[in-house]
Amino acid sequence: MIYQHILVATDLADEARNGFKHVYELACALNAKLSFIHVIEPIAIAFGADVPMDLSQLQEQQMQSAIARLDEFTAPLADIKATDKHVVLGQPKQAIHQFAIEQNVDLIMVGSHGRHGLALILGSTTNDVLSGAPCDVLAVDIKRFNSI
Ligand code: AMP
Repeated sequence: MIYQHILVATDLADEARNGFKHVYELACALNAKLSFIHVIEPIAIAFGADVPMDLSQLQEQQMQSAIARLDEFTAPLADIKATDKHVVLGQPKQAIHQFAIEQNVDLIMVGSHGRHGLALILGSTTNDVLSGAPCDVLAVDIKRFNSI
């Protein structure tokens, strides 16, 4: 098999939803295992380490809503188990690369643009994931699927 384990890195943006079916069909055609990952940046890091309040509850809510959203996005796809869906705390590039290494991922799929991408350049996370990636990376044009 060309690819045996495909990892879909998703920002869970509305636009990403339609890309899931495309990736799923690719994984089925290749008979590859499919995993999904969404990375949440620790709130303390995103807003500065010296925030004077306990953010653990807020972080937990963020995790729970991401899990629910990932469940919703993958619900139309058959045979995706809870153990195939991962919501982790960290920096997107590091967390995605680490997961890929630990789980023997041989293809990472990202959207060519996400929430922070400008119209004509690669999204910043896509660029980050590409640099130093431990395996192949495929950037999918998510916008295309929303017009099908
Ligand atoms: P962006 O850097 O926001 O333009 O995102 C580009 C692509 O990177 C998205 O389409 C996703 O595939 C991926 N991505 C962005 N943010 C995350 C995240 N927090 N967790 C996992 N993948 C992400």
